[in-house]
Amino acid sequence: MIDLRSDTITKPTEAMRKAAYEAEVGDDVYGEDPSVKKLEETAAALLGKDDALFVTSGTQGNQIAVLTHCRPSNEILLEENSHIFYYESGAVAALAGVQTRTIAGNRGAINPLDLEAYIRADDQHFPETGLICLENTHNRAGGAVIPVENMAAIYEIAKRHQIPVHVDGARLFNAAAATNRPLTDFTEQCDTVQVCLSKGLGAPVGSILAGPKDFIANARKWRKRLGGGLRQVGIIAAPAYIALTEMRNRLTEDHNHAKIFAEGMGNITGLKVVNEVETNIVVVDVSGLNTTSDEFVDQLRQVGVQAVTFGRTLVRFTTHFDVSKDDILKALSGINLVVSSFK
Ligand SMILES: *Cc1c(COP(=O)(O)O)cnc(C)c1O
Repeated sequence: MIDLRSDTITKPTEAMRKAAYEAEVGDDVYGEDPSVKKLEETAAALLGKDDALFVTSGTQGNQIAVLTHCRPSNEILLEENSHIFYYESGAVAALAGVQTRTIAGNRGAINPLDLEAYIRADDQHFPETGLICLENTHNRAGGAVIPVENMAAIYEIAKRHQIPVHVDGARLFNAAAATNRPLTDFTEQCDTVQVCLSKGLGAPVGSILAGPKDFIANARKWRKRLGGGLRQVGIIAAPAYIALTEMRNRLTEDHNHAKIFAEGMGNITGLKVVNEVETNIVVVDVSGLNTTSDEFVDQLRQVGVQAVTFGRTLVRFTTHFDVSKDDILKALSGINLVVSSFK
């Protein structure tokens, strides 16, 4: 199987497995796990924030951010296809008791002028705008990089209105690699950020939530309330440290593979690549074959290729560490076979 469903399916490397085996551990709820401390300190420094918290997943990191920034009845502003709105099982409503107000973006980017118009005035009828969430890279926009300039314009407005900005940076490492900019160029334009270590970087488990000291102290308490206070968690922090420090530079390889894949897909009659491929995600419209994404994905499995549906006629392919250039070329010939069977 050539598995292009997601960059979450990567298996830990030998170095990660060895690090897990040899990890120095302690009870992290007592603040005594040296492997977790090392990971959190390194992540905070890389992200240019005062402090960082190791959390079990990207979703948990985002939810803790909303819980820590907001109070029940607040309204949060987010792009209409953002992960926090689209893919987190309604958790911000269920857990934080906030209401969401979504804004249509352009390739995942919110127009700063639109955003400013959505911020609530001080009026007893209105909820208070408690948080602005951005997503970089933007998953449903096909791994699009949100430009630093766009983030800066939004942060400027947010500061003027004293509203915090949280970045869902599940794939922020991809944004940095694709633009050849340091992570801090992006993270300077927000108060808090969540990054996934278990996607393109290949850690088996874990995300980082970073921000100011007092914010992280409160976030740590929310993590505990959610049952995310873990004990000898150095076992997973040690491989996550390797992901964070050794796997970032190879992301451009995934991006190159995605470009090769997109070019090949674009040459197949009946298929249309709908996103401008900047990172590791390729979104393909199969409506030219008079089929649905469900049917197409089923057919792909028959020739040993896996992908996910991304809408009625859209299919998402994601490149990652466990897919070589040779796999990409093999996947393309398999897909060619499938497409000819539709004609
Ligand atoms: C995957 C993802 C998350 C959530 O991460 P999990 O570890 O799967 O909970 C959040 N935001 C974006 C943009 C993602 O792609």
